[in-house]
Amino acid sequence: MTGPVVALSGGIGGAKLALGLARILEPDRLTIVANPGDDFEHLGLTICPDFDTLMYTLAGVANTQAGWGLAEETWHFMAALERLGGETWFRLGDRDLATHVERTRRLRAGESLTEVNIDLARRLGLRVLLASASDDPVRTMVETEGGRLPFQRYFVERACEPVVRGFVYEGAAGARPGPAALRALRQPDLAAIVICPSNPFLSIDPILAIPALRFAIADSAAPVIAISPIVAGQAVKGPTAKIMRELGLAPTPAAIARHYAGLIDGFVLDERDAADLDIPTLATATLMDTLEAKKALARAVLGFAARLAG
Ligand code: GDP
Repeated sequence: MTGPVVALSGGIGGAKLALGLARILEPDRLTIVANPGDDFEHLGLTICPDFDTLMYTLAGVANTQAGWGLAEETWHFMAALERLGGETWFRLGDRDLATHVERTRRLRAGESLTEVNIDLARRLGLRVLLASASDDPVRTMVETEGGRLPFQRYFVERACEPVVRGFVYEGAAGARPGPAALRALRQPDLAAIVICPSNPFLSIDPILAIPALRFAIADSAAPVIAISPIVAGQAVKGPTAKIMRELGLAPTPAAIARHYAGLIDGFVLDERDAADLDIPTLATATLMDTLEAKKALARAVLGFAARLAG
């Protein structure tokens, strides 16, 4: 298989497969489209958590234990802010802060989010293209039993404790697609579109809610393959299974596949799971604890795509 590949990704789970793909493909064959739904304005700064997790992971500077932020981080800014009575519920490390300050400065100077983010990633040494899904704000709102919460208030401040009733992707319907993301999805020789094992509601649906991107995916001749973030009835990390139960869905790979029905041509689930689906499936090892496991899953997914295309 020689054509280019596009991967749609959130933060932690998606970034693991994105790293595996980045290590087995030539850099100019891979575009990763980052979830915009977690982005928000905080302390006067534009923060793009999933983009930054992907950028730091692919640059080899991520804090892999926490799953967010930078390795070897210090917290003097947060401590000083706390002393002044500032808002500290969202943790920003000293080194990480530079990313948000520089991004915000350049956005205010008139550059687009796509331009700024691609350049920040290049400066950190990324050779694959990490593309923003949109240059317009797309903001995930969580409908809970207690009312509507902006994503970070739900996820960080309330630690995913409120019971979820649904999601709204504010701004998505009218959002222009990120030009680099759209260009990548429209490549005529595309070999695969990979939906990473990310939270479908919080990480993938905000991308799919941007009409031009969803249309480009549906319209592409390339096989669209999703990988289950649910393994043996549980999320590997994070609230995916809890949210599924609250929405009345069984936390199973089959329910994930049904969530993407009509869009995907193939589905990858863990070898210890089973699902009776009416699309081709691949059962393989999907736990990506090591770099080898990430590369092995990336290879398996691309091999599956090549068989589907052939
Ligand atoms: P977030 O934006 O940081 O929440 O990250 P994502 O949405 O990209 O990833 C969260 C999802 O990744 C969760 O549903 C996890 O179950 C899943 N996940 C994390 N690690 C793995 C793994 O090694 N294998 C698989 N299959 N899923 C994983």
